[in-house]
Amino acid sequence: MKPPPFVYHRPATVEQAARLLADLGDDAKVIAGGQSLVPLLNFRLAAPAHLVDVNHLGLDEVTVTGGALDVGATVRTARLIDDPAVAGAAPLLAEGAGWVAHPVIRNRGTVCGSLAHADPAAELPAVLALVGGEVQAVAWRAGRLASRRVAAADLYAGPLQTTLDADELVVAARFPALPARTGWAVEELARRHGDYAMAGVALTVTVDGEGAPVAARAAYLSCAPTPLVVDLGPADGATLRERVAAALDPTDDIHATAAYRRHLAAVLTERAYDRALARARSATPDPTPEVPP
Ligand code: FAD
Repeated sequence: MKPPPFVYHRPATVEQAARLLADLGDDAKVIAGGQSLVPLLNFRLAAPAHLVDVNHLGLDEVTVTGGALDVGATVRTARLIDDPAVAGAAPLLAEGAGWVAHPVIRNRGTVCGSLAHADPAAELPAVLALVGGEVQAVAWRAGRLASRRVAAADLYAGPLQTTLDADELVVAARFPALPARTGWAVEELARRHGDYAMAGVALTVTVDGEGAPVAARAAYLSCAPTPLVVDLGPADGATLRERVAAALDPTDDIHATAAYRRHLAAVLTERAYDRALARARSATPDPTPEVPP
């Protein structure tokens, strides 16, 4: 299938893009990497009259400020893995990015596009929610560029739905650094390598000076309409499995039954917990992200 006809806009500044989005309203969609939007157009599941290309606004910077990673709107997902400075500064994010689709898609798809697309099966929204991150969004309001920060906890409204207005443009995302003595892991299972996961989890464990776990948090993907953050407390074994079972209420779909998803989430949580705990206990955690083959 070919996409339905649209008018293509190529603004050169953030202000031009925001003004265009304000003028065009619901008739326009932002296009970044196009890795989710173009299939939707080709399948005629979306038919915006206008596409506003945000690839030429100079928003391709990654900066580390006080440990937090700021990722511009057109930073590609591959950069989280391929750039050693970025992967070293945010190894949990790098590990999550390694599970996103295939290299070809990661080379083009953007981090902020994935966050804005709000697919409940996507890894990066779950990581953003787990670390308490946020996006910075701008819009043209009352004759000027208005900017606001939206925490991950307030960003997701449902499958493929955010709380952002149709004319808001995400210009950056911020992933805060993990607390001290905190290990991380991302685990998921898909039918074929690179497919969206049937269930997945991003998880952190924090230990005290003796190496005893004092906190554990997890964010689940493909288990709820939006990324689901669960405070697991310092638990392991049967207690951990019980907490996962109590927190999750997944649904059936063509990919997996609810019961299988629940089982999978518990197994993946235990695996992730063990790896995260080992990393937390290691005095100098290995900064090399573990990327799936
Ligand atoms: P686009 O496709 O350009 O846009 C997606 C949506 O976000 C659109 O609604 C667009 O208007 C909006 N948007 C984009 N950027 C902004 C912005 N700056 N501000 C406001 N709105 C914006 N993803 C996963 O997470 N995990 C997977 O396993 C996975 N597997 C995939 C497998 C295949 C075969 C394909 C084709 C895609 C897969 N994806 C997967 C999706 C991929 O990661 C996309 O690149 C990503 O979801 C969207 O990023 P994008 O830059 O391509 O956004």
